[in-house]
Amino acid sequence: MSLTLLFAAGQGALDEYRAPLTDALAAEGLDATIATDAPPGSVDYIIYAPASPLQDFAPYTRTKAVLSLWAGVERIVSNPTLTQPLARMVDPSLTQGMVEYVCGHVLRYHLGMDAHIGAPPGTWVADAPPLASERRVGLLGLGALGQACAEALVALGFQVWGWSRRPKTLAGITCVHGDEGLKDILQGTEILVTLLPQTPRTENILDQGNLALLPHGARIINPGRGTLIDDDALLAALESGQVGHATLDVFRTEPLPAAHPFWHHPRVTVTPHIAAATRAASASRVIARNIARVEAGQPLLHAVARDRGY
Ligand code: NAP
Repeated sequence: MSLTLLFAAGQGALDEYRAPLTDALAAEGLDATIATDAPPGSVDYIIYAPASPLQDFAPYTRTKAVLSLWAGVERIVSNPTLTQPLARMVDPSLTQGMVEYVCGHVLRYHLGMDAHIGAPPGTWVADAPPLASERRVGLLGLGALGQACAEALVALGFQVWGWSRRPKTLAGITCVHGDEGLKDILQGTEILVTLLPQTPRTENILDQGNLALLPHGARIINPGRGTLIDDDALLAALESGQVGHATLDVFRTEPLPAAHPFWHHPRVTVTPHIAAATRAASASRVIARNIARVEAGQPLLHAVARDRGY
């Protein structure tokens, strides 16, 4: 029997996804029709991105799962009409993109690259940077993305700490959790990377009090979500020198409004939510695999726990 997949992620996205998704479904041996419009009662799976106008999931009574094209699901997880299982995107290419973004910006700070790139001609200050083994990098969030970044930073030789909700044991990484763990990680971290999901519990996790725990002059890289940071507290910490520099990829309002002080701050680098994109070819394979699993009676991969919000 042919499956009906509702592609609710915007027409532009379908142009990009139609061919790789068709191939990936065929490779899994699935007979499926990809539609942008279908009677709700006929839809087996919904492929979803927040750009979609679809907000009422109640009529989709036959739908076995909603498959998000985004890793962050904060814009759908709280939808009260969503009773179907929800999977977030865990895509090897997206993960690789995040690893490259995080390692690149960590190395920029670690090596003090800006000093040389921006130095006037004739500047000759032969201050060699420390080795990675002398530098502590901390990650808030040790999920699919945080863990991959942590492992890559370990491979580069950094002292890597990571913080998660539940206790973890990961080779080469000092893992901490809970309120005490948060204090411990912040107190020793010179370069902090935030890869937490947006939930009520992570909102403003980098507030004035927690920013004050960092060593003076610490650097922050936030490719997680804008709500993790109290913007005013960060601006104050940048002014006082408590935070030496911040690289921010995600914001409370996107695109970041033209008048926002982050745009003009000399110690802030703004990147326009490009840390890690979902790539159609690999994401299509992830979606097709997940559909094949459900059709075979196996549990959905990357299922979102509604009560946790991620
Ligand atoms: P994930 O696998 O769900 O991992 C989330 C991590 O955060 C887990 O380690 C989790 O702890 C931890 N966590 C959640 N709530 C916590 C809390 N209250 N206290 C302590 N730790 C907490 O997510 P992911 O795939 O790594 O993605 C992380 C985030 O990156 C996404 O939610 C999204 O916002 C962002 N993202 C950004 C981009 C971009 O381009 N900028 C692209 C993709 C994703 P446990 O391990 O104990 O559950």
